[in-house]
Amino acid sequence: MFNKVLIANRGEIALRIIRTCREMNIKTVAIYSTADRDSLHVRFADEAVCIGPPSSTDSYLNIPSIMAAAEITNADAIHPGYGFLAENADFAEICNEYGIKFIGPSPEMIRKMGDKITAKETMIKANVPVVPGSGGLIKELEPSLEKAEEIGYPVILKATAGGGGKGMRIVWNPEEFENAWLTASREAAASFGNPGMYMEKYIEEPRHVEIQIAGDQFGKVCHLSERECSIQRRHQKLVEECPSPFLDEELRERMGQSAIKAGESINYEGVGTVEFLVDKYKNYYFMEMNTRIQVEHPVTEEVIDFDLIKEQIKIAAGEKISGKNYYPKMHAIEVRINAEDVYNDFRPSAGKIQSFHSSKGHGVRVDTHVYAGYQIPPFYDSMIAKLICRAQTREECITKMERALDEFIIEGVKTTIPFHKQLMKDERFRSGNFHTGFLNDFEIQPE
Ligand code: ADP
Repeated sequence: MFNKVLIANRGEIALRIIRTCREMNIKTVAIYSTADRDSLHVRFADEAVCIGPPSSTDSYLNIPSIMAAAEITNADAIHPGYGFLAENADFAEICNEYGIKFIGPSPEMIRKMGDKITAKETMIKANVPVVPGSGGLIKELEPSLEKAEEIGYPVILKATAGGGGKGMRIVWNPEEFENAWLTASREAAASFGNPGMYMEKYIEEPRHVEIQIAGDQFGKVCHLSERECSIQRRHQKLVEECPSPFLDEELRERMGQSAIKAGESINYEGVGTVEFLVDKYKNYYFMEMNTRIQVEHPVTEEVIDFDLIKEQIKIAAGEKISGKNYYPKMHAIEVRINAEDVYNDFRPSAGKIQSFHSSKGHGVRVDTHVYAGYQIPPFYDSMIAKLICRAQTREECITKMERALDEFIIEGVKTTIPFHKQLMKDERFRSGNFHTGFLNDFEIQPE
């Protein structure tokens, strides 16, 4: 087992990783930018190294600084968390060169899944259903228009290097095609440094259902059931739950087996997520694979009673997984509490948290790095807490979530709590009958 793990991340996920390391008797090294000097991850880790100024490029994405921090502290492994360098194959490779274990899959696996076109091709070979599409980059207008006609409108243009819901455009008819392609491609170049776009059938009213998997260095892959992530705003997840109200045992198992095939096809090592879209006829299609721990992993941890970070570390250290699949024993819902003004187009609301009281009680979990007096830096993402509730049934879980949201008090900045309170009361949400477009016609009422 590792002796000392450096956590190449910040915020709640850095704390989350420190907690598990403590329980595993592994020492931890936090890294931080000057803007995060007062962060809890800095205080809770055994050691902490400042790696640069606030901007992510100069700090949490600054590979030479991070490697230097790992060297001077003698860390033998690096946990990348999510975001930042978590899916950066070059970083994983550099860790290897330094003889420091990257806690995650190999650089080759990250590369294979990181490029979405290559990932889809790999899945087709592995017999995993994928969204019908262009099968390659869009290069010229005329053949692409023909292809779109063949697939059938609407189609969606997506950046091959895309992530976080960015770089996507829905095209409803041939007239819109060229313009959408050019703007999306420009956007992709600016955000991901890669203008490459591909085309897919736009699945109407789909659900986003993803399968958690784990694979070890001995070729064994198992699934740990699904997470329903259809409550999204601009293709970004706000609420996740397990079980999905839409899945029955049969569909869960079929999707689980497809996810296992996806993992096996690349000899996947580590924990990962295979994302699918499911249409109303219960057809499901592979969308992409995330080769890292995800924000919404606690939902799975709560329903199967399992520490995914621990599993990740054990796999990286060369331990075998049991190989059995895991099924939900409870219901869990996670809501993302972001410092955003829901009455002002979810605009980020940086500032100082004046008072902070987090929900407590049976079946309530709060993963957060903030506290009263904490100054939210404007440089990073706006998520300040994840509130996760679990109960025997979905209905009880929603009731518990309402109670927990009522208890949660954050003063000084605006948060998404008012939105979540209204969502929990919404009849359509409660019925479980919704799709990824749910929030398009959801109106937030004044408090
Ligand atoms: P990202 O990597 O940016 O998160 P994804 O490929 O995971 O992008 O897609 C994010 C979301 O975009 C999905 O959850 C879904 O809501 C929507 N989406 C993506 N592809 C399609 C599609 N072919 N049809 C309909 N919706 C889609």
